[in-house]
Amino acid sequence: MNDKKEIRKYIRAQKNRFTRKELIELSAPKVQRLLSHNRVKEAKTILMYYSLPDEVYTHELLDLLVNMGKTIILPAVIDDENMIARHYKSASDLREGAFNIMEPIGDVFINYDEIDLCIIPGMGFDSRGNRLGRGKGYYDRFLNKLGGCYKIGVCFDFQRLDTIPTDVH
Ligand code: ADP
Ligand code: MG
Repeated sequence: MNDKKEIRKYIRAQKNRFTRKELIELSAPKVQRLLSHNRVKEAKTILMYYSLPDEVYTHELLDLLVNMGKTIILPAVIDDENMIARHYKSASDLREGAFNIMEPIGDVFINYDEIDLCIIPGMGFDSRGNRLGRGKGYYDRFLNKLGGCYKIGVCFDFQRLDTIPTDVH
């Protein structure tokens, strides 16, 4: 199984074995692990993600992190290839953007060098930290602009793969 499309199909089938409620339950230990991670504890500014129904659930985590005093930013898709980051203050700032992803309408965040940590969803991750996305390369291009920021990939156990085929990016 080494073709990216095949791997995505396999992951989607795994996800479909669970209800939305079960996926939220499976998310709890992942969120706990993030909250006890030193990089999360120490970070002041974090690029987070607002989960889609098939991703590790982060909606409450976002508000928790805001209440801890952290600056939380979320990606926002601006065209066929690119994302920017915007401040997240509360769920009332969110509007549906491209691909049914909720995005904040808050101020654009441009000080990329202030980002201490990026928490990133994926279709799959391997033990070397390679990430498989949904196939459009948005995070590849966006993370490229952030330089060497520390990154934590987030997924369910069934999304952890032995190896993911990678290109130079
Ligand atoms: P995903 O990361 O969503 O799984 P891929 O890594 O296969 O998807 O990338 C999807 C598309 O985006 C590919 O056509 C790839 O060439 C392009 N792409 C990915 N990263 C970059 C990058 N850093 N610069 C330019 N194009 C990129
Ligand atoms: Mg990629």
